[in-house]
Amino acid sequence: QLILGIETSCDETAAAVIKNGTEILSNAVASQIESHKRFGGVVPEIASRHHVEQMTIVLEEALTQAGITYEDIDAIAVTEGPGLVGALLIGVNAAKAIAFAHNIPLVGVHHIAGHIYANRLVTELKFPSLSLVVSGGHTELVLMEAHGEFTVIGETRDDAAGEAYDKVARTLNLPYPGGPHIDRLAHEGTPGLNLPRAWLEGTYDFSFSGLKSAVINTLHNAEQRGEKIEPAVLAASFQESVIDVLVTKTLRAAKAYHVRQVMLAGGVAANKGLRAALSGAFEEFTDVELVIPPLYLCTDNAAMIGAAGSMLFQKGKRSSLALNGNPGLDIEQSFN
Ligand code: ATP
Ligand code: MG
Ligand code: FE
Repeated sequence: QLILGIETSCDETAAAVIKNGTEILSNAVASQIESHKRFGGVVPEIASRHHVEQMTIVLEEALTQAGITYEDIDAIAVTEGPGLVGALLIGVNAAKAIAFAHNIPLVGVHHIAGHIYANRLVTELKFPSLSLVVSGGHTELVLMEAHGEFTVIGETRDDAAGEAYDKVARTLNLPYPGGPHIDRLAHEGTPGLNLPRAWLEGTYDFSFSGLKSAVINTLHNAEQRGEKIEPAVLAASFQESVIDVLVTKTLRAAKAYHVRQVMLAGGVAANKGLRAALSGAFEEFTDVELVIPPLYLCTDNAAMIGAAGSMLFQKGKRSSLALNGNPGLDIEQSFN
């Protein structure tokens, strides 16, 4: 079974070919980071325009690398949401055009289901499975009892983890996206500042806006006193606070739901500190298999969309040519 995956939800134009749901035959990604950098974040209109320019190039690259043509493909999997609506529409329309022209079934995929299924390109899923999703727009704990069945047991009440990283980075005048820069800085400093942790006891929810404000206030107050705070110390303290909450809550949920597997997913899964802390926390917890995807499968790509699409296609999901981009798509309802 060959699936063509297409992803254009934010600032990566991506296409990939996945064999039998688990094997990457090609994985082409055109990143727009350079174009958005000078604005300090993703500009939706610029993103859409780049997707239009890059889509056919990336599709051709994915097919060529895989050594196949459209006639060999069993289904097209495309991100239908969530994301920037103008960006989503480019991928959805490309997928519909190919599906119509070559008479290939179409499957709409939830972007976060894609991030989670990046792990299926690494290992088999074992249920119940718990995913810690940490990305630019999401921070949530997702429980799965079976393929394609997602239950969100906790989520952020304000900023996503990646968003907090990017905002703190901006305060430190680091380039966009700031996550990798904070990660690097954090390893050069020691976490000397006592920054808050929002535990939201009794829930698996998260909150990062208080921490973000604390970072900004700490910098501001020091400035007013004419003192200087080492960026590396600030980055290390911020990162320690984020990781402490993420790892503690994941461990608690894994025990409470008796899961057999914990998977890390989303762009912030590339964070070295988080990967190390999670590995450490689950080391003694031998009943649970911890899965951490390789870096190239953490940030946005189409291989993960192909992997999720393959599973959905096998379970019988078919989208019509009326498929639309849906920025508010709910992962729990995304099978239909
Ligand atoms: P979503 O998946 O929620 O729709 P998105 O697709 O924009 O959002 P991703 O591409 O999954 O987000 O992840 C991008 C985010 O990951 C950015 O906020 C970026 O700063 C963050 N990120 C990437 N690498 C690291 C890292 N090493 N440490 C921390 N954050 C990182
Ligand atoms: Mg991106
Ligand atoms: Fe993403």
